[in-house]
Amino acid sequence: MKTIPYGRQSIEQEDIDAVIQTLTADYLTQGPKVKEFEDKFAEYIGSKFAVAVSNATAGLHIAVLALDLKQGERVITTPITFAASANCVRYAGGEVWFADIDSETYTLSLESTKKLVESKPKGFFKGIIPVDFGGLPVNLEKFRQLADKHGLWIIEDAAHAPGGYFTDSKGLKQNCGNNVYSDLTVFSFHPVKHIACGEGGMVTTNSEMLYRKLCSLRSHGIVKDNMNENHGGWYYEMQQLGYNYRLTDIQSALGITQLAKNERRVARRNEIASKYKDAFNGKVRYQSLPEGTLNAHHLFVIEVEDRKGLYDFLRTQNIYSQIHYIPVHTLPYYKAIGYQGADLKNAEKYYSKCISLPMYPSLTNKEQSFVIEKVLTYING
Ligand SMILES: *Cc1c(COP(=O)(O)O)cnc(C)c1O
Repeated sequence: MKTIPYGRQSIEQEDIDAVIQTLTADYLTQGPKVKEFEDKFAEYIGSKFAVAVSNATAGLHIAVLALDLKQGERVITTPITFAASANCVRYAGGEVWFADIDSETYTLSLESTKKLVESKPKGFFKGIIPVDFGGLPVNLEKFRQLADKHGLWIIEDAAHAPGGYFTDSKGLKQNCGNNVYSDLTVFSFHPVKHIACGEGGMVTTNSEMLYRKLCSLRSHGIVKDNMNENHGGWYYEMQQLGYNYRLTDIQSALGITQLAKNERRVARRNEIASKYKDAFNGKVRYQSLPEGTLNAHHLFVIEVEDRKGLYDFLRTQNIYSQIHYIPVHTLPYYKAIGYQGADLKNAEKYYSKCISLPMYPSLTNKEQSFVIEKVLTYING
């Protein structure tokens, strides 16, 4: 029997055709497909600007740089995330501080973040990086209030959540990454995420100033537009130290066709989530859904007492579940630099029980029924 992974990409003929067309076009990189992808992505998300980057990790790196994070400055994030959400702070020489998660939504706890921020003098922290864990958009309106009170910026790590939304206190639906309550949002186009580009990422913002900084940082710190007319057409200036974090036209072409299918695929992911919930309701704990929120469901996580037992049992059935995530503050690198210390009980308890079940649009009903049957069999002993 074929294996059932926890996640996988869906590539169709139109995706293949789009990539092949780009291969014989004039530009393989720095051409029109990049801009087209950025424009379509910004429109879909409802943000003013989008900057395509080589991956979300690169996006997070230039996001903290665009917000002027400096050596020794402190940023708060969640321990239940992929390490990249924290690593970007380290790239800029900053310090990572962790606040605990909410034990119902598994996302950064507002209360824990507030407690941490208020335990230090104003100016101690520079920013917060909430993560839309599993695809559940964080209610950023509440984080914005806290951030504004203490002069903090917000980078939303939305690698899991394109197509999700939450509802704010005015009853308005806020698309994940529309930057109404965040300064910058970062998305990933790794194949296991919603939109597959092979590698790729996008940073969105409503600030023209941040947009310009991101564009420059993505491409060596070089600025070419609106240069002094006294210079020739070849003229450019390298104004700051930037990187080559560009996305290619080949990847962008794939991103465009993938993006067009995201809405439908998020709906399919929610169909799968509903079926899991119906089967597990009252028997197994899963991520809760705050009212007015659409979880884009990168993951479907359950909590079980004998997590390793279930993981191993599912492997014998060719079901490859996964664990998201080993808490970042317990990874050897972070342990060695000693940024633990905060009370992260919810995160550690969550980690002892969490397991991610197969969740991807092409998972068939039959396959999902098989997964559910095996999980329930194991739990019922
Ligand atoms: C995947 C992921 C990233 C990094 O994405 P890449 O595109 O692989 O660099 C960052 N944050 C979170 C939460 C992720 O899941």
